Amino acid sequence: MKIRNNIINDVKRLRREFPLQDRIESIEVRTTNTYTSVLNSWIKDGVAPLPDAIPPDDLETLLTLDAVVMTNSGIGCYPFSAAKTSISANYREHQIYAMNAIDALAIPLLTGTEVVIKSRCSRCALSLTIKSDSLGQIKEATPSDTQVEYRQISANHTSCCNDLCPGITFICGSCAEITINQNDLITLKEASVVGRAFYHFQLCLTNPSIPNTMPLDAV
Ligand SMILES: [Zn+2]
Repeated sequence: MKIRNNIINDVKRLRREFPLQDRIESIEVRTTNTYTSVLNSWIKDGVAPLPDAIPPDDLETLLTLDAVVMTNSGIGCYPFSAAKTSISANYREHQIYAMNAIDALAIPLLTGTEVVIKSRCSRCALSLTIKSDSLGQIKEATPSDTQVEYRQISANHTSCCNDLCPGITFICGSCAEITINQNDLITLKEASVVGRAFYHFQLCLTNPSIPNTMPLDAV
């Protein structure tokens, strides 16, 4: 029961601090379709879409909502970062960067593939590798006691990728043990469920046959 409460609390926290799903559900169908095409570019091709393929007014709306992120490397779309981050994820023949640790763990849900995540402990820089199966379940982690730390690094969230994502990182077991705020720690298994719950709405957008509900009993 404790694990499930942790998961529910962390999903609520993430949705409160970054209400992405609410924002997407508030926009016009046409803009939602544009958002879905951006997502599909990342999911299917592992690359940012070409900016001129996106209607300018839709792009402006999505940027205003912080649903997509414009960078020198292209258009990022949570959980996919166009700019290089400290978290890489490999699936099929693609290598992409994730916005944060929870986002990385959600990628198998969207791609329907096994994913290999590589990162470093945010405290001691130890190399970390995490393998997820095509359902997003953790198959292997090196070191095996790797966790996710969800720290609050800013009181206000204006741009998720700048003031929220940098606080959601992988942390090795040794550093986790001496972390002062133990409530910020999430096991990999829990964090993968949190990520999949948070991004389930994207799965529904890119696979219209999937109902847009996610009973927690099913995860
Ligand atoms: Zn460490």
